[in-house]
Amino acid sequence: MSDRQHLSASFLLSAAHVQQCPQDDTLEVAFVGRSNAGKSSSFNRIMGNRRLARTSKTPGRTRLINLFTTTYGFRVADLPGYGYAKASQQSQRAWNEAVDAYLNERANLHGLVLVMDSRHPLKPFDQEMLSWAADREILTRVLLNKADKLKNNARNNALREVKAFIADHQHASTQLFSASSGMGLENAIEWLTQFSQE
Ligand code: GDP
Repeated sequence: MSDRQHLSASFLLSAAHVQQCPQDDTLEVAFVGRSNAGKSSSFNRIMGNRRLARTSKTPGRTRLINLFTTTYGFRVADLPGYGYAKASQQSQRAWNEAVDAYLNERANLHGLVLVMDSRHPLKPFDQEMLSWAADREILTRVLLNKADKLKNNARNNALREVKAFIADHQHASTQLFSASSGMGLENAIEWLTQFSQE
């Protein structure tokens, strides 16, 4: 695993609603995070494809569910960031509806990558996602992103805090990550490839 720099993935489709996603039993793992936590950067770092980066940054597509296929056979769903500062209440509601429908109706959704800013993890949205995933027994990996911005002590504190929070959630685990420096990249990829073999 140590030589793995990224997963190979290719863009499949953008969906405004869960009904537009393929109806089959291919395993899916969803990437979620509060806006600005670095979800797109983490996603692109892990998928390691500049074309994907452009795809997910295409205006309009950031509000959609973007699906990608990977060479491991599972799909990745890049969900719109939660709480975009300039979004109106109405578009925030639309986010909630499309994403809620995806999260609650997608039977083949078995994994979740929850990207948090390691400088302020476990915001209410993060806690809600974790409790939802625990209820549904969804395999969950918390990426404590932007760890490059923290000193060792602060990193370890963030890690300890999140580990304590998920201690009762047997399907959840966490790690430090940096989309910028690549810290934790191999661990994240390893988690994803193992997820696909569960
Ligand atoms: P998203 O809204 O969650 O998709 O966040 P983005 O991926 O667009 O990142 C938000 C900002 O954080 C951008 O300015 C990124 O360059 C920056 N960023 C993302 N990940 C990291 C990281 O690991 N380290 C640092 N220092 N900055 C990051």
